[in-house]
Amino acid sequence: MAETIAFIGLGNMGLPMATNLVKAGHAVHGFDVVPAANEAAAKAGIQVTPSAVEAVKGADIIVSMLPNGKLVLDLYGSGLLEAAPKSALFIDSSTIDVASAGKAHELAEKAGQASLDAPVSGGVGGAAAGTLTFMAGGADAAFARAKPILEQMGKKIVHCGGAGAGQAAKICNNMILGISMIAVGEAFVLGEKLGLSHQALFDVASTSSGQCWSLTTYCPVPGPVPTSPANNDYKPGFAAALMLKDLLLSQEAASHAGAATALGKHAADIYQTFVSEGQGGTDFSGIINAIRSAS
Ligand code: NAD
Repeated sequence: MAETIAFIGLGNMGLPMATNLVKAGHAVHGFDVVPAANEAAAKAGIQVTPSAVEAVKGADIIVSMLPNGKLVLDLYGSGLLEAAPKSALFIDSSTIDVASAGKAHELAEKAGQASLDAPVSGGVGGAAAGTLTFMAGGADAAFARAKPILEQMGKKIVHCGGAGAGQAAKICNNMILGISMIAVGEAFVLGEKLGLSHQALFDVASTSSGQCWSLTTYCPVPGPVPTSPANNDYKPGFAAALMLKDLLLSQEAASHAGAATALGKHAADIYQTFVSEGQGGTDFSGIINAIRSAS
């Protein structure tokens, strides 16, 4: 069914996601604070509006895709919840801290609006291909309402639980990813020191108990997995600065929740150093080069 969808935040992820909604036949009203993003959106068939509030007027669904929790709360507090029709559903797909996600749900509830946190995994490539994974948190009815729309931007849609559960799943997953990429990088560097070829270690570990996504899909050395960023001078992919963001979000949540995450903290420290050294724009698998340099 064609719907009217407002899309706020038309950056690296938001633009291709909104474009897939246009392709699916929806009327998409979009807004970004950066003029160049709005120009690119207009070329993709999105009806650009002069403000976010304008975009949500008459919208059935409102999707936001912003850099952080403060911006999402500022947006929700800017009159947006009141400007949208009462039957609307607010979906925030940004990766933000669990506490802000909870506050966003509260603001929506106070304004009588249904809401869902639905962060994504799959990166810019997945956004363009419409193959993202959505991890959703919110009421059953909100999830049921959102699912057909999310399916037009992604291929796996998981209802993780109540308010904030999508963000919780996202940062837990990315904590595994950050730690495992460092583990795989350390193993390749140790293998190099021990005279092992990259291919030999890959052939063994990818079919043994060391097997994981960081190795088999996103191998941090060139060769064994031709599509991994290691074969493209570590261009992202998924930038180290975004990995650091997610690791810091997981640390914030761990400290609030009282979870012992020693390796998660260590991984955040390692990526913090990498980013401070000017490597924030490098793919996160480039961490292997820092491990090699330190060896
Ligand atoms: P981005 O910086 O490219 O896009 C964010 C956009 O939001 C920008 O165009 C910015 O101008 C706009 N914006 C900021 N404040 C705004 C406001 N008040 N109103 C309207 N627009 C506003 O970032 P991105 O890579 O698209 O990431 C968006 C979110 O998705 C982040 O939370 C990120 O962590 C998450 N994410 C990114 C990736 C990835 O690979 N890039 C993968 C998964 C999740």
